Amino acid sequence: MKYSIEKVATLIGARRYGQSEGQISWLLTDSRSLCFPEETLFFALRTQRNDGHRYIDDLYRRGVRQYVVEKVPEHHESLYPDANFLRVPNTLAALQRLAERHRDEFLSGVNGGAERKVPIVGITGSNGKTMVKEWLYQLLLPSQKIVRSPRSYNSQIGVPLSVWLLNEQTEVGIFEAGISQPGEMSALRDIIQPTIGVLTSLGTAHQENFRSMEEKCMEKLELMHDTEAMVYCSDNDIVSRCIRRMQYKGEKIAWSRYDEKVAFFIKEIATKESDTRITYVYQEEENSYTIPFIDEASIENAITCAAVALRLGLTPGQLADRMPLLEPVAMRLEVKEGQRGCVLINDSYNSDVNSLDIALDFMQRRCQQPMADGRHPKCKTLILSDIYQSGTSAEALYTQVSELAVKRGVERFIGIGPELTAQADRIQVAEKAFFTDVRHFLSSDIFAGLHDEIILLKGARSFGFDQITEQLEQKVHETILEVNLNAMVENLNHFRSFLKPETKMVCMIKADGYGAGAVEIAKTLQEHRVDYLAVAVADEGVTLRKAGITANIMIMNPEMTAFKTMFDYDLEPEVYSFRLMDALIKAARKEGITGWPVHVKFDTGMHRLGFDPVNDIDELIERLKHQNAIIPRSVFSHFVGSDSDGFDDFSAKQFALFDEGSKKLQAAFGHKILRHMDNSAGIEHFPERQMDMCRLGIGLYGVDPRDNHILHTVSTLKTTILQLRHVPAGETVGYSRKGKIERDSVIAAIPIGYADGLNRHLGNRRCYCLVNGQKAEYVGNICMDVAMIDVTDIPCAEGDQVEIFGEHLPVTVLSDTLDTIPYEVLTGVSNRVKRIYFQD
Ligand SMILES: *Cc1c(COP(=O)(O)O)cnc(C)c1O
Repeated sequence: MKYSIEKVATLIGARRYGQSEGQISWLLTDSRSLCFPEETLFFALRTQRNDGHRYIDDLYRRGVRQYVVEKVPEHHESLYPDANFLRVPNTLAALQRLAERHRDEFLSGVNGGAERKVPIVGITGSNGKTMVKEWLYQLLLPSQKIVRSPRSYNSQIGVPLSVWLLNEQTEVGIFEAGISQPGEMSALRDIIQPTIGVLTSLGTAHQENFRSMEEKCMEKLELMHDTEAMVYCSDNDIVSRCIRRMQYKGEKIAWSRYDEKVAFFIKEIATKESDTRITYVYQEEENSYTIPFIDEASIENAITCAAVALRLGLTPGQLADRMPLLEPVAMRLEVKEGQRGCVLINDSYNSDVNSLDIALDFMQRRCQQPMADGRHPKCKTLILSDIYQSGTSAEALYTQVSELAVKRGVERFIGIGPELTAQADRIQVAEKAFFTDVRHFLSSDIFAGLHDEIILLKGARSFGFDQITEQLEQKVHETILEVNLNAMVENLNHFRSFLKPETKMVCMIKADGYGAGAVEIAKTLQEHRVDYLAVAVADEGVTLRKAGITANIMIMNPEMTAFKTMFDYDLEPEVYSFRLMDALIKAARKEGITGWPVHVKFDTGMHRLGFDPVNDIDELIERLKHQNAIIPRSVFSHFVGSDSDGFDDFSAKQFALFDEGSKKLQAAFGHKILRHMDNSAGIEHFPERQMDMCRLGIGLYGVDPRDNHILHTVSTLKTTILQLRHVPAGETVGYSRKGKIERDSVIAAIPIGYADGLNRHLGNRRCYCLVNGQKAEYVGNICMDVAMIDVTDIPCAEGDQVEIFGEHLPVTVLSDTLDTIPYEVLTGVSNRVKRIYFQD
């Protein structure tokens, strides 16, 4: 659907500046995702840290002509002569309003005359939203034309962008609504206006922003107010109570395992080895279906889907036919190192044009930076399977695919499947090849010749793309550290929320990013425009520079032997003593350098490194003034105990010392010297001491420094079961016969040992890991490369995954057992453990 710019101005009630004509079919909120500038409308959103108005100039140069703004740029007639600026009081509200009006436009038949009622399913809940949405899509796809939220676009920005995808052909819309604090749902409800509401499970996510579970549940139920029907599980007391409280008027489709009187009664759940049969009673008829999953979450989500699908008119027979075909939902784009210098981006999320666009955008961004070893990828390759998408002809679909691929800079296109092969002519990428199936591709010269390229793999599951991944992936030690980059960004934003918008941020990525891997962490932080990155030694800075990091980099422990390296790679040292300062000045003079930025450290109580802010300050100023080789860019000190209230008096003394010393330093110079003191705990505990800048460390990696609770888990250390064996009572396991077996047991060997960072003191049942969600204790001494665990009571098989710490087992469980801090466990994961990065 296209809208003219006049129409958009009317719909959102904007004042228009500019005269030129324009047609809109794409909405853009993140300038980096631009694809079709001629038909794009950019919303200059203001967020806590950023302001979309800053990108207008850049976007204009790239061809964008239509803007929604809060402030019209000065001299726009001369600077941007053929642009239109639609001025509104709040750009986010305007985006939401446009989506809302778009939904009204054709779904309630305002233009069309006859009322065309399209069912819209709105899904909310703490967990399972995306799975329910995707499965509903899979269930309805054979008979209906569906528009749904891409991936998990469920926020205040994601929802309007999703609803915008509705078009004249749509027969069902399925949208997710996610909230994180009170008051957010009503805006989402107005945009989605669901006819059927779905509440998936209620959990603890975002609970920090709500006073109680009830309050959160009531907020979620805001989505349901004007719906015709609502699907939920009445076995949860909180949910049932809240629904009674809201006095819901529509049709309640509650499901329950215990209460026969509900609309959707679950009579039996029979779990076998690899599937589950669910027998239900709906509208007084008993039926059943089977799903190819056995875990609790899948069973619940499938029940929810069944209730919605039946309400939307699927017959029990259709349901029974389609349920066994449900496919797992892959939520993430995985980036992995491949064979022969390739980087693989694996996206096995349902294949459709919207998710292809998101994945291509991701690839394009990764390509703007060199790979980990500093080289640029030689080529951008897309390997794509046939796309199953209803409502579009193959010609139109693959023409659109080709346009996207070209716009996003794909240089080589490999199509797999009969339909793509038949549509080969539509693909306009210069280098292209087509195969009817994966087997033919794998035996081709093209596959054998892949090297030094960045490869996006995007295939419908039935095509067996996992065979390609398997062959292209580098075979590694089975122990991996998975790093969730989105979670890190959420942690960053959490800490930013304590600060004023103008306060700068240093992100500490010393010790290889607290173990998570400095390069990928730095790339992501650079994308989110943090002001400084800080590492311990010069070599760490060099690695970042070679990987294409252009952000400012601070060196916290500069070595006297590495000054030249710092000059060569634009690294800014900390200066903490006269001896170091003199050596640095001398080295700079030798290179003819003037005005090299440095960061002056004061010792205010840690008694580690730093100038004395009282006794050294006059001499420090004097010496700095009498040279021009270096220049103080910032001045800082470090709290000893910002994590504990018990040290508040001491912290206050530290701050007072710093405040006085740093003000003296500033007064001696004409340029602005940034003052900073807060670390992660300080940001939370003393936001009033933020001054010009803060230094975020452990919080970025997901551990709340004040009480050690986990914010968003960034790193998960995982391995797999190598071997299982029965060990009879009376035997022992491991070196020195430490692991005495008291009863007949099943013992699993896992390929991780103290050389990987699994501390030996966790052995002998002092701690545990998780196997299929259950606790398995370490038995006997942990070896160098292998450990043994007790899985006697846990159903498991060789090859099953084991979590050492992370997503389901907080790293603090390990650090508490070891009587240490999480920092030590995180930084202890050794280099030979492969890091794998992903975004949800
Ligand atoms: C490591 C470090 C930080 C970060 O501390 P966290 O407790 O991890 O937030 C801040 N400042 C300095 C000087 C550091 O060395």
